[in-house]
Amino acid sequence: MKASRKHLSAKGLFRSIYDQFKKIKAPTSSSPAGRPEKIKLTDCLMSGLALFSLKFSSLLNFDERKNEDRIKNNLRTLFHVNQTPSDTYMRECLDEVDPAQLRKTYKMLFAHAQKGKLLEEYEYLDNHYLIAGDGTGFFSSDKVHCDNCCIKTYGKCRIKLLSIAPSNFSRFKKNTYILFKKPEQHWELYFINSDKEIMKIEIWAIEGLQELLAGKIKKQLSKAEKEIIKNQISAYYQSHYPNQKETYYHNMFCAAIVHPDKKTVIPFMPEPIIKTDGSKKNDCERNASKRLYSDLRREHPHLKLIVVEDAIASNVPHLKELNVLNLRYIIGVKSGDHKSLFELLQKTECNEYQHQTENGVSHRYRYVNNVPLNDSHPDFKVNFIEYWEIKKNGEAQHFSWITDFTINDGNAYQIMKGGRCNWKIENETFNTLKNQGYHFSHNFGHGYKHLCNVFGMLMMLAFFVDQLQQACCHLFQKARNKFHSKRSLWEEIRCLFFKYLIETWDDLFHSIINGHDDIVLKPNTS
Ligand SMILES: [Zn+2]
Repeated sequence: MKASRKHLSAKGLFRSIYDQFKKIKAPTSSSPAGRPEKIKLTDCLMSGLALFSLKFSSLLNFDERKNEDRIKNNLRTLFHVNQTPSDTYMRECLDEVDPAQLRKTYKMLFAHAQKGKLLEEYEYLDNHYLIAGDGTGFFSSDKVHCDNCCIKTYGKCRIKLLSIAPSNFSRFKKNTYILFKKPEQHWELYFINSDKEIMKIEIWAIEGLQELLAGKIKKQLSKAEKEIIKNQISAYYQSHYPNQKETYYHNMFCAAIVHPDKKTVIPFMPEPIIKTDGSKKNDCERNASKRLYSDLRREHPHLKLIVVEDAIASNVPHLKELNVLNLRYIIGVKSGDHKSLFELLQKTECNEYQHQTENGVSHRYRYVNNVPLNDSHPDFKVNFIEYWEIKKNGEAQHFSWITDFTINDGNAYQIMKGGRCNWKIENETFNTLKNQGYHFSHNFGHGYKHLCNVFGMLMMLAFFVDQLQQACCHLFQKARNKFHSKRSLWEEIRCLFFKYLIETWDDLFHSIINGHDDIVLKPNTS
């Protein structure tokens, strides 16, 4: 093992995290009132981290076992938990912790990856690093909620705005409003209720609708006007059918350094999406991504980064923000969202380039540099690349991106591979969290203030530790190779954790690798 990588094993990583957690000042209210015991915040944080590290399926599951002596021992030897808190104590304590306090721990792990020369293995395209970002949900409930929950009203109505009268109403779903205008007549509004009955609604009954529609046909309504119409009708629906349910949820924007040829990722601290981020998914993600990227730039002012995101991010305000932060980009773009760009490309002479890779796949590119992204910002120029992948069996796939790298035949392949890394945040991160035993969407408890977000951050931290071990720790890699899936490895670790008194992480991994005959673990005799 390279000497500089000694921190990148479970032993080193949990020790460093513990040392970092010790520096977090306990909020004054973190010791639940009226409780005789006073357990340190560090013990609560490390217990929370252990919960996600061992991939317990619920908090209750953790609590049932934690009083057993060997569990207490193992939590102390492996996770530095000196005094094991009860489930309730841990929740109440962590609820008071501002998740931003965990930021330095992420930064410290990142520094370990840098010192251990792991980061440089991710270098790509002119010594940059690709950073993939996307929003994801990690908690949702229709009952439990806290101060920081986002709220979604479901059982919403649908609104159809038509340019001609529908020939038959039965094709519409329940709770649908249909607004249309016959030639030379006034606008009409109908509602299909939950029993699929058709009801006529007077236009004047809905505030502002008459003024907006007066004298106009559908074509003449602007995007903004259509938006207002839909909002007014929704408000009307809500006032008439107030018994709809609400869902409370927590989403976060996550970003990680990725590489086309690597299975592991290096995550950054996720940014919680908060109530005030907006009512639309896109707004929420954009506002949170703005905070994440600017924090990132503040902490790593010189890191050369290329942001790879999906097509919802290809809008001028966002690209300008990236520009200000000195972040390069390769971002998906779709013809539906950028009609003028795709129309322009029809008329423009583009560069074409084609090659084949050893696996028999043909790669065809069409690109042009320095074109306006859209009509409303004619001065904002981007470079555009369109790509077709054609497999031996004739199967074809098509993608398109915009970038601020000047495209040429020499870098088209790299830009394409970089752009496609965007799915890694979904595949290697979110799917791992959801399917590999982290119980990502599980309800671990919600709290009243920060608990839900603190759990979200601790879970990503546990994932970070696992990624670093997977990339750098040969003991972990050997243990991992014993199993078909990571899920089975976690199961084995949990099983040993319950059965034996374990002194060190090395002992634990050696026993997995060499079989239990060789183990240094002592069977529990208490
Ligand atoms: Zn909440």
